[in-house]
Amino acid sequence: MKFINNVHAAQGNGGNLGYIYMECTKNQAASVHQYSLDGCGEFRLGGELGTTEALLCAACKCHRNYHRKVALLLF
Ligand SMILES: [Zn+2]
Repeated sequence: MKFINNVHAAQGNGGNLGYIYMECTKNQAASVHQYSLDGCGEFRLGGELGTTEALLCAACKCHRNYHRKVALLLF
């Protein structure tokens, strides 16, 4: 896996497919049975690549998996 700016690229399947991670979809109010988002609009690497911190968003501190994943074709 290689990283091009904020695009998380994965090679394979005969093409160059990459992903970007958009707004945070973690429900911040689940513990009180409500629905509220933190307003984070785009995942930002939270640390150096290869570290666990990199998988946490620099803006909202949520794990990358909480951010909406969008597939891209890279040319
Ligand atoms: Zn975020």
